[in-house]
Amino acid sequence: MNKAGFSQTHHEGLRIEVDALITHGLVVTMDDSSRILEDGAVAVNNGKIMAVGDTAALVSKYQGRKVLDAHRKLIMPGLINAHTHAPMNIFRGFADDLPLNEWLYDYIFPLETEFVNRDNVKLGTRLAIAEMLRSGTTTFNDMYYHIDEMAGIIDELGPRAILTDALVDLPAHNGKSLQEALQQVEEIIQTWKGHPRIQVGVAAHAPYTAKPKVYQAAKVLADKYGVLLHTHLSETRWEFDLILEKYGFTPVQHLENIGVLAPNLVIAHGIHLTREDMDLLARRDVGVAHNPQCNMKLANGTAPIPELLRLGVRIGIGTDGVASNNDLDLFDEIRSAALAQKLINSDPTVMDAKTVVEAITIGGARMLGLDNKIGSLEAGKQADIILVDLKQPHAWPNFNAYSLITYSLRGSDVDTVMVDGKILLDNRRLTTLNENDLYEEVHALSDRICSWQQQRTKSKPHPKA
Ligand SMILES: [Zn+2]
Repeated sequence: MNKAGFSQTHHEGLRIEVDALITHGLVVTMDDSSRILEDGAVAVNNGKIMAVGDTAALVSKYQGRKVLDAHRKLIMPGLINAHTHAPMNIFRGFADDLPLNEWLYDYIFPLETEFVNRDNVKLGTRLAIAEMLRSGTTTFNDMYYHIDEMAGIIDELGPRAILTDALVDLPAHNGKSLQEALQQVEEIIQTWKGHPRIQVGVAAHAPYTAKPKVYQAAKVLADKYGVLLHTHLSETRWEFDLILEKYGFTPVQHLENIGVLAPNLVIAHGIHLTREDMDLLARRDVGVAHNPQCNMKLANGTAPIPELLRLGVRIGIGTDGVASNNDLDLFDEIRSAALAQKLINSDPTVMDAKTVVEAITIGGARMLGLDNKIGSLEAGKQADIILVDLKQPHAWPNFNAYSLITYSLRGSDVDTVMVDGKILLDNRRLTTLNENDLYEEVHALSDRICSWQQQRTKSKPHPKA
């Protein structure tokens, strides 16, 4: 090409047209070389990232049909919540300051029996998605009931999710027999197969609510469709002792014995682990979803995350449901993850800022088997991108981007969110959801929950009454 031809390719009219060009931001890529660009840009087209680079270079090559000026904003991959129960958002603050068993069996299970239905699952999911998008979460790994309804809401509102139906020893919400429950899950898997943002996986709730045959059937189904298998494991000392007494093995070894430990398994919590358990999780390449705030709130203990990381275990960080957190803010969650581990290990160097940021981006994506699609800002990946507003006092000065994200920023600093290139939060306005209507509906439901609780506690006083 001659000199004139070269300059022509850089002429305004000859630039490559893309759907969106995000310019002049502080780009934290989370790619293999941990690239950070001071004046960076991201080009987005057809739902995917076309290029990531310096603003000057990208502006000369690409022309955005939409240009987002990210001056004094941080541009990073959408955050990944490794373990939650989105519909439980309608139960926020219902019962606090109780031990897990009492919280679960005296409050949450009766509440769920009364109020978990299709309409309330949809309402809770909408509330959770509003909260997640507003705080930068674009992908979540969920376990609950009526996941077909959840999938419909997610399809409509735009985030990315892995949905798993919590199989338990029956009868439960999801069917009259194990056979029926499995058939229902399989139908939902088939219905949503191939959806660009929704993966339907399989879950067994926990070894104290699901017998080996439930786990084994769940594994067969997950393997058949190549989807995620999700469970709660080694969450409390009570569970650890119960499983040891019942089966003669620790919860992790129990799942090994029944053939469930595998790379497609994600265990939530993993707090009470022996040395052998940790080695087993590493050897079987099981993913661990760490939920520090829930673990602290229910006083369940501190998961040995630094040790698991040393062993090469894939770690993500989740909020768990808001009934035990009580929010879905992952910025808040990683701060807790870092601080709690430093305290418990008496070592300020463990769980450093970069490590926890990795756990809610590329590390979380690896744990969920989605790292070929999301988790970092790289050409070819899906355009799940968030912009965080740095024009506020707690964001200055900025010496280290990972430190800023972990120790200073908050979910409410997020001002723009994109999933598959579609803007779902635009300058702090949700584009697919009417928040005022949502709050009125949640308020009406909370009145009904209060009335029910008042009736129920006529015989048994509520600790807060
Ligand atoms: Zn959970």
